[in-house]
Amino acid sequence: MEVRYDMLVNGKLTRGSRTLDVVDPATAEVFAACACASREEIEDAVTASAAAFPTWSATSLDERRAVLIKMAEAIETNLESIARTLTSEQGKPIGDAQGEVGGAAYFLRYYAGLEIPVEMIEDSEARRIELHRRPLGVVAAIVPWNFPVLTAVNKVGAALITGNTVVVKPAATTPLATLQVAALWRDIVPAGVANIVTDKNDLGDVLTSHPLVRKVSFTGSTTTGMKVMASGSNTLKRMTLELGGNDSGIVLDDCDPDIVSQQLFDSAFTNNGQVCIALKRLYVHDSQYDAICSKLAEIANATIVGPGSQQGTQLGPVQNRVQFDKLKTLIEETRTAGTIIAGGDSPEGPGYFINPTIVRDIPDNARLVTDEQFGPVLPVMRFSDLDDVVARANDSSFGLGNSVWSSDSERAGAVAAQLDSGTVWINKHGDIGPDTPFAGAKMSGVGIEMGMHGLLEFTQAKVINFSKPVSA
Ligand code: NAD
Repeated sequence: MEVRYDMLVNGKLTRGSRTLDVVDPATAEVFAACACASREEIEDAVTASAAAFPTWSATSLDERRAVLIKMAEAIETNLESIARTLTSEQGKPIGDAQGEVGGAAYFLRYYAGLEIPVEMIEDSEARRIELHRRPLGVVAAIVPWNFPVLTAVNKVGAALITGNTVVVKPAATTPLATLQVAALWRDIVPAGVANIVTDKNDLGDVLTSHPLVRKVSFTGSTTTGMKVMASGSNTLKRMTLELGGNDSGIVLDDCDPDIVSQQLFDSAFTNNGQVCIALKRLYVHDSQYDAICSKLAEIANATIVGPGSQQGTQLGPVQNRVQFDKLKTLIEETRTAGTIIAGGDSPEGPGYFINPTIVRDIPDNARLVTDEQFGPVLPVMRFSDLDDVVARANDSSFGLGNSVWSSDSERAGAVAAQLDSGTVWINKHGDIGPDTPFAGAKMSGVGIEMGMHGLLEFTQAKVINFSKPVSA
């Protein structure tokens, strides 16, 4: 059956007044077109969402749970087909796409299982003070292109279970799988409660400045996050901004290169390095430096790069032309700044492919080290002094995640305590899940996503303060 990629607005699938072409990054050619909204059509989605809010916010938690479970089931039933679409537009290997789509359903089920607590602040003879949580209203959920389905569904799950309504906007290069999900949800979610609109990377500000939008849940680059915050300031919108990162990994002198190298490689290259919490700068103790560089190069050279739809592919193409060109320029600069010991080139043929690239002997002030590369290129630096490497890792405007690698977890924990980021992993990198709060420090974000802390960011705190009758 041919899949139509329509938007979901006020319970109806709609073509919109524009058309958006979508490129397969494995061929660099347009392979599909989908519905695309005008400014007025995005405003219509916000209006529909605001109109649906009073009824949806008055439903019981159990009613909302039931809807979320059905939304998850619809995704699970159509997992294979959504994953194929995701691979075609995003580039990731089909197994990874299946993991992302299955993960989206898992996140919905997690949110469906949560309680929204009433907290008792005081219950004394004189008074009772309760802290309730109320929904905010219309939530704008703005999503990037690296994990389009999971990121969108995570925001929708948290928004809906807390009684908000939502307007989702995927990135312009990866709208299709999200629109496929929208079609499945049409008959499950009441009209206007979940709306999904697309743009050409030109209308996000309609959502972030709209007076009826009460919260923005944004995932994307720091540069855009700053614009989003400014645009929401006139109406004092609540904001969760999950932004860029330049995560470091610090490998101490007691690590076995044979044990850690594969894990380090996977931490940096999963999803082709296009992960906010990918390992993006690796610092290795002098005593292990040569061995780990060699191992990483060996693994990179053995990695199978190809179309995500092809059996056996481990790394697909980079997602879009802009990112591909940026990475190619960065690699060219790196030829003089450091020593490329694996990759640095692209396989023959079309598509935005880059072979996994390992760079050694590169100074900390090279752009590959200071900037977020967001692609399959890893710089590996040497250190000999722990205090010095902690200072180097912290010398970044970003603060999303860091990791410490050691056979002595107490020792690693002491280093972790000194790192300035929202998360520090020990002997792993990038482990997140719906129950674990995820927050960016410094320029990596504002607020928390996921877990109970993340859920509460979709609510307004409301105190009810009772005076107790004075007994006779
Ligand atoms: P981006 O900031 O260019 O775009 C993200 C989204 O914002 C897209 O939907 C885009 O259309 C929209 N947008 C663009 N301009 C806007 C505006 N003025 N107002 C409102 N919305 C606007 O990011 P990207 O290139 O799609 O994604 C890559 C970036 O996302 C990387 O920096 C990465 O680290 C970051 N990211 C962060 C996390 C996290 O959780 N911290 C997760 C994934 C990706």
